[in-house]
Amino acid sequence: MLCEMCGAEVPRTKLVMVEGAAVHVCGKCEKFASSPAVRAKDGAVLLPDVADRLDNREKRRKERDIYETSGELELAEDYSERIRKARQRQGMSHEDLGRLISEKKSVIVKVESGEMTPPDKLVERLERALNIKLKEPALAAGEVRKANNSQGMTLGDFIKVKKK
Ligand SMILES: [Zn+2]
Repeated sequence: MLCEMCGAEVPRTKLVMVEGAAVHVCGKCEKFASSPAVRAKDGAVLLPDVADRLDNREKRRKERDIYETSGELELAEDYSERIRKARQRQGMSHEDLGRLISEKKSVIVKVESGEMTPPDKLVERLERALNIKLKEPALAAGEVRKANNSQGMTLGDFIKVKKK
C-alpha cells in the first residue's frame, strides 16, 4: 500500500484523520498526522522532513530568545536585512560602515548574513550610524503563540526563508 503522506510503499497503512479528511499513512507518518505542527495554514499536509525543518526554525527562535536581554525591546527578526538595505541605501560598502562604527568589515558581513547576532552595544551603534530601528517591542509568550497561530507557516514562507 502507498502512504499518502510520504509516498512510501509499505505493507500496511493506517487510516488517520487529517483536518477532517481520511488519509492512509505508514507507521512513520502516523505520529505526524495527529500533530498540528506538520500542517500548513491551508490544511495542506507537509512532508515530515519539511515539518522537521519548521520545528528547527521554531527551536532556533526559542534559543535566541533565551539570549535576549530582559526589557521590552528585542532584536527584529529581519535585522540583517534592515542593516544591509540601510547601508546600501546610503551607498556604503561593508568597509565604510565598519569604519563608521569602529568594527571590522568581517563583523558587518557576519551580522548582515545573520551569522552573528549583534550584541546590544553594536545594535545601538548600527541604529545610530544607519538611522534605522533594529529593535521591536517584545511580545509576551502568550501573544507570540497567538501571532504564530494567526499567521501560520506556509510552505511558501518556508521557501522564502530557505532562499535567504
Ligand atoms: Zn509515510
